[in-house]
Amino acid sequence: MTSLEVSVTDLAAGVTRITLPLPTGPKHVHCYVVDGTLFDTGIGLGEPHWDELEIERIAITHFHPDHVGGAEAAAAATGATVHQGGLDYAQCERVWGSHDWPERIAEWFLTHGVPEAIAQELIEQGHAFAAFIRFARDPELLYEGSELAGWTVVELPGHADGHLGFMRDGILIGGDHLLARITPAVGLYPESRPDPLGDYLRSLERTIELAPRIVYPGHGEPIEDVAARAAEIIEHHRERLDLIAGTLAREPRSGYEVSLEAFGAALSPAQRRFAVAETLSHLERLVREGRAARAGDGRAVTYTAP
Ligand SMILES: [Zn+2]
Repeated sequence: MTSLEVSVTDLAAGVTRITLPLPTGPKHVHCYVVDGTLFDTGIGLGEPHWDELEIERIAITHFHPDHVGGAEAAAAATGATVHQGGLDYAQCERVWGSHDWPERIAEWFLTHGVPEAIAQELIEQGHAFAAFIRFARDPELLYEGSELAGWTVVELPGHADGHLGFMRDGILIGGDHLLARITPAVGLYPESRPDPLGDYLRSLERTIELAPRIVYPGHGEPIEDVAARAAEIIEHHRERLDLIAGTLAREPRSGYEVSLEAFGAALSPAQRRFAVAETLSHLERLVREGRAARAGDGRAVTYTAP
């Protein structure tokens, strides 16, 4: 598959995977159609002919651009109702639907030590990007335990605060909660849940308990050894927590400074944004585990060894 093609694959009885191109990152994102339900909609570039598929309803796993960005177009083409998590939709509106989100997030990054020039570039990129994200307004809202066409909704916070999974007959439509080769990003962001890595580790434990036979993810191949993959990702974060704890000393350091050590100094502003957010999610987990201390007045936040 070249990066510009849409491909449609029948994976198993009744499970159709639609793979759409992405300009960056893993270069592709998967949507799935099962019994008339379309899960996720791509970023909104290189659309398939949604109206040629049998789609009666649309379900969104989380509000990240590669999953929700095509929702308005898919809904318009099919006439289907869009269903999205309650918390997830609130964050979707805040991030993609408000005019000053790039300024607010840049301001927050400044409090974590990100240099002015990088913050400024994030503002510009944020405004350029937001114009392309066409999420669907006023969806039907879903919560833990909601039922949708025989699927049970499970809230799996971590990669996104309001990330949902959909369970039916041993199948978990997993969005970016569990991926085969990539470790899903888990970042701290403003106006969001305070301990996303703690949320994520619990969601991974929960996934092991739910014991789906197979997970169909947003990127990469389906996952059959679910418990092993979840355990591997838990272990990855345990190691990274140890690594980040090891960078702390008595001298206060910002999340940005710690990110330079944990992720290296040679990153683009967009990559640095993820590196700082990921560093902060680990620092906040360490604070809760008594392995780091946070200080600051909301204008300059720093971390030390406890
Ligand atoms: Zn994704």
